[in-house]
Amino acid sequence: MILAPSPLRSNLHAHSTFDDGSLSPEEMVRAAVRARFDVIGISGHAYMGRPSEWTMTPSGTRQFALEMARLKDKYAGIIDVYCGVEQDVLAPVPEVKFDFVIGACHAVDAGGELVYADASPEHLRAGVERHFGGDYYAFVRAYYETVAAIGRDFTPDFVAHFDLVTKYNEGGLFFDEDDPRYRAAAISALIAVMERVRVFEINTGGMYRAGRSVPYPAPFILREIRARGGEILLTSDSHDAASLGYRYDLAAELARSAGFRYAKVLTPRGFISVPL
Ligand SMILES: [Zn+2]
Ligand SMILES: [Zn+2]
Repeated sequence: MILAPSPLRSNLHAHSTFDDGSLSPEEMVRAAVRARFDVIGISGHAYMGRPSEWTMTPSGTRQFALEMARLKDKYAGIIDVYCGVEQDVLAPVPEVKFDFVIGACHAVDAGGELVYADASPEHLRAGVERHFGGDYYAFVRAYYETVAAIGRDFTPDFVAHFDLVTKYNEGGLFFDEDDPRYRAAAISALIAVMERVRVFEINTGGMYRAGRSVPYPAPFILREIRARGGEILLTSDSHDAASLGYRYDLAAELARSAGFRYAKVLTPRGFISVPL
């Protein structure tokens, strides 16, 4: 490809039937071609060290990498295909070599039992009740302490949905996102993570899947990333075809109003910054 890929036609965060997506990798690649994307990366959820229906299995991880290598060749010249992994901070580091790694946090380890931020409102309510005495600010603090470890055991290319803990919190259902307890926990995790990772995705998946009104991360976090010299890229965390590039217009607008003029895109020579 002679021209740099457009950040508005790039997506490096998508799932397939190897984890919790609804399409095979090839169906997802074809959907991205139909949607006129320049770049599609599929980022399987890393195995968590225990069987879970939302992650790849160890043998599935190897098959996924082989299938992505086949698709990369098959679609060369049509769309740039990359094989990635969405590596949870609590998951063992896989042995497979990926084109890119997304660092993520989905859950808090509460004495061996995982309380997920993103499974369902019912799961969240029950987990916070059982392990945090119903105190959502205590849960949020534990969540961001877990986030703060992103980049400690492995070096991701970018950080996923930094404030995923707000997935089911639209309208302040569980906690107040303007509360200093919430904001202090988020910002101190951001400062810790930014010592190791400088790129964050603006992820529209929570808007598509959970009715959030803004992408991750919230504008106050985006402004802080910008103020600290961080960088961004756009992703739609797609689990189906219809969500590819969902509300990228809003994501780009929020990025610009936070002061970002460039976004990262992946090319065969690595990540580059292009005007947003
Ligand atoms: Zn995720
Ligand atoms: Zn994802």
